[in-house]
Amino acid sequence: KVVTRFAPSPTGFLHIGGARTALFNWLYAKHAGGTMLLRIEDTDRERSTEAATAAILEGLTWLGLTWEGEPVSQYQRAARHREVAEELVRLGKAYYCYATPAELEAMREKARAEGRPPRYDGRWRDRDPSEAPAGAKGAIRIKAPIDGETVVHDLVQGEVRFPNKDLDDFIILRSDGNPTYMHAVVVDDHDMEVTHIIRGDDHLTNAARQTVIYDAMGWQVPKMAHIPLIHGADGAKLSKRHGALGVEAYRAMGYLPEALLNYLARLGWSHGDDEVMSIEQMISWFDIKDVNKGAARFDFAKLEALNGVHMRAMDDARLTDALLATLPYLPEGEQLASRFDEPARDRLVKAMPGLKERAKTLVELADNTYYLTASRPLQLDEKAVAILDADARAVLKAVAERFQGLGEWNAQSTEAAVRDYAQTSGLKLGKIAQPLRAALTGRSTSPGVFDVLEVLGRGESLARIQDQID
Ligand code: GLU
Repeated sequence: KVVTRFAPSPTGFLHIGGARTALFNWLYAKHAGGTMLLRIEDTDRERSTEAATAAILEGLTWLGLTWEGEPVSQYQRAARHREVAEELVRLGKAYYCYATPAELEAMREKARAEGRPPRYDGRWRDRDPSEAPAGAKGAIRIKAPIDGETVVHDLVQGEVRFPNKDLDDFIILRSDGNPTYMHAVVVDDHDMEVTHIIRGDDHLTNAARQTVIYDAMGWQVPKMAHIPLIHGADGAKLSKRHGALGVEAYRAMGYLPEALLNYLARLGWSHGDDEVMSIEQMISWFDIKDVNKGAARFDFAKLEALNGVHMRAMDDARLTDALLATLPYLPEGEQLASRFDEPARDRLVKAMPGLKERAKTLVELADNTYYLTASRPLQLDEKAVAILDADARAVLKAVAERFQGLGEWNAQSTEAAVRDYAQTSGLKLGKIAQPLRAALTGRSTSPGVFDVLEVLGRGESLARIQDQID
């Protein structure tokens, strides 16, 4: 059975790269009928916060990336990490090192002078434990192989070879009894019975060191897939300017979770030429062998376009509910949310076909709903004010008279009345539609004006027109 895991460090929000890693783990597990576990790598006590953990869980939940069971806290497993480190000492695969800070600094100094990366020189590797200085608490170091190479069999990168002379005897348990990150990850992945490790390729060199620990314990190394990092549109490492934000920032920008997931899935993975995919399609198509080796580039314009496609493809009632659920998270969300009550929802569903044609994000969609919930007299924007000059008001007056006599009130009947007036007056349709739009919506752009008339209904429409005639 396939078991994947997402293992974020709770030192900040769930950023977009982390969300993609979680998505790949989730898709892979779902595709294989397996499960994804969640492990919070909170061993760095200085930088880990409860707030960050909460933000990560909330981000994953918003995206629908569900994990199995309770999140595992790495920090709470420290006793087990210690136990395995001591076990390695018993097995002769690791040893206590009592090198002093001054000795270690001298090793670093020497490396600097010789222009090579610092390396522990193995001075306690073969010494007898009885030589330990009295009362000193040593750190435990793994006995890394000296000759040959360590090979990481990576599902994305292929066979990656690391000469063992570059892997020193790194610390697995610090002298204060705390495990190092490198060691904790191996013990946890083993104990959690993880079969596939999917993570950013910045962890590839860690994979070699982790392999040394697996081998020392005689444990099977899980399958590994190191996925290329996300870069900005300019090819540089992803920064805030490029979109390296927390997923909640994407929610506030009005992206639908399914659109963001679709975009992230395509960022580094492809399935033929398919751009637009449902979550079900992603699950059924996802395969690590189709993950690209090169870095992916983050492109806001693509994400926005994709979001528009997902919005338009969505059922009107569902999109309405998605919008209403998201309102509180949008800029000025409280104020927006207060505009919608139960009847407003019904009108929103009705207006949705016209609204969604014109919006790429929920922010734009919410903005376009202004006309639906605004109370009279409408606040006109500058362009609407400019449209409603004396001529335009005269047109409104004539149209209003025709509207008065209408039996049925809907998009068709109001359109017929306006067309009829255009014919008899010789005015172009736009010359009538523009003032109507300005009076009904307070803006110069909106969904089709006849749809607006239908959605607002006779009473409200006529009242708004009247407001501009007087
Ligand atoms: N905690 C690591 C990170 O946030 C991930 C480690 C791993 O996946 O093995 O980058």
